[in-house]
Amino acid sequence: MTTENKNRSWAEPYRIKMVEPVKMISREEREEAIKEAGYNTFLLRSDEVYIDLLTDSGTSAMSDRQWAGMMMGDEAYAGSRNFYNLEEAIQEYYGYDYVVPTHQGRAAEHIISQLLIKEGDYVPGNMYFTTTKLHQELAGGTFTDIIIDEAHDPENEHPFKANVNLEKLENLIKEKGADRIPYVSIATSVNMAGGQPISMKNLKALRALTNKYDIPIIHDMTRVAENAYFIKQREEGYEDVPIKEIVHKICSLTDGATMSAKKDALVNIGGFLALNDKKLYEQAQNMVVVYEGLHTYGGMAGRDMEALAIGITESVDEDHIRARVGQVQYLGERLIEMGIPVVRPIGSHGVFLNAKKILPHLSQDELPAQALAAALYVDSGVRSMERGVVSAGRNQETGEHNYPALELVRLTIPRRAYTQAHMDVVAESVEAVYKNRENVSGLAFDYEPEYLRFFQSRFKKV
Ligand SMILES: *Cc1c(COP(=O)(O)O)cnc(C)c1O
Repeated sequence: MTTENKNRSWAEPYRIKMVEPVKMISREEREEAIKEAGYNTFLLRSDEVYIDLLTDSGTSAMSDRQWAGMMMGDEAYAGSRNFYNLEEAIQEYYGYDYVVPTHQGRAAEHIISQLLIKEGDYVPGNMYFTTTKLHQELAGGTFTDIIIDEAHDPENEHPFKANVNLEKLENLIKEKGADRIPYVSIATSVNMAGGQPISMKNLKALRALTNKYDIPIIHDMTRVAENAYFIKQREEGYEDVPIKEIVHKICSLTDGATMSAKKDALVNIGGFLALNDKKLYEQAQNMVVVYEGLHTYGGMAGRDMEALAIGITESVDEDHIRARVGQVQYLGERLIEMGIPVVRPIGSHGVFLNAKKILPHLSQDELPAQALAAALYVDSGVRSMERGVVSAGRNQETGEHNYPALELVRLTIPRRAYTQAHMDVVAESVEAVYKNRENVSGLAFDYEPEYLRFFQSRFKKV
């Protein structure tokens, strides 16, 4: 991976020692499969998929060291040694004092939301995330977007599109009162904005502002190492700072964190809530017993906690993070060369196709991103997902669709699972669909569940 000469090719910094065969079924079979799935890529069977870019969540390849760790699972109900290894890794790499393990990120979001949010509260955040916002709402809160406006413009090249507009935040505090704002919810490498980073400078300014009003910051640290990589690349003064230190610094500017370890931390299942406030920790520890399991496993097996502890150390390795984000950049740059409208700059965990621009003949009510994801699957068996009007759900009060400015298809790259050759196949398939875009027709809801509708909705062609 290390290339001193910028003109030379780079390669994945690992050797493959076990393979999982994948197969492409025929075009007729793919047409049948997507129809069966109600044109929702979440409802396809994995066997019907050739290259699976649905999500980077829990889909990464573990290392030989992590698998060795799995063999050292201590499956004691209470006080498993793997829990203490995990706790130590979180304290060392992220710097938070207290750890409550959970089975995945949304369980941590559930606990922190129930503990801190009261009916009628406002929770400002740098763009919403589906599960995060839902748990805030279920706890009686209202999510308020305080991200900079540039984040809503897919063509804006701002290097830190996850930055908070501090004026928006201060106006909200003045309007509602600091006592109505239990915390500010800050994600690193913001998923819904296209995997875009927040700068250290902005985070420091946010810390100063929240200190003034005595409002805590809860950090959605799902992709903190990827954010740190962009800080190292783009922010003055960090060129030579190790990723490990940047990650630690980011965390030190916040008061607690929820983590979906299925992303950055390179495991197939797991998560945690990390806190610095002892009282709050004790409440969370008590609550996890009700919903997840005892506070020393919280829904994870001992072996999973061991793999996670090791995954945390690997996630901040310089070669790893450079190759991980580098592979995403490679795919993005190929698509840009082909003239495909994508969210700029290319994000950390996926490339986001601008469906509004690719399918201008479809109105947002015809669900362009959903239709584009289905068309891409039919072309090549590549599975992607919708991030547009379907994901945005309905307005809690009016029941109308939320119409987000961004109508995107996400090509999410699992970590260490695919090679550059897979990226080439994906790029060529996107190009083929793009050339044939006039023939992509719109979709309408056929079945719509109440919560997080993008997962289980079914659609029909219009
Ligand atoms: C995946 C994700 C979550 C939710 O975590 P799960 O492990 O899927 O429950 C929360 N926030 C962000 C930014 C995520 O990407």
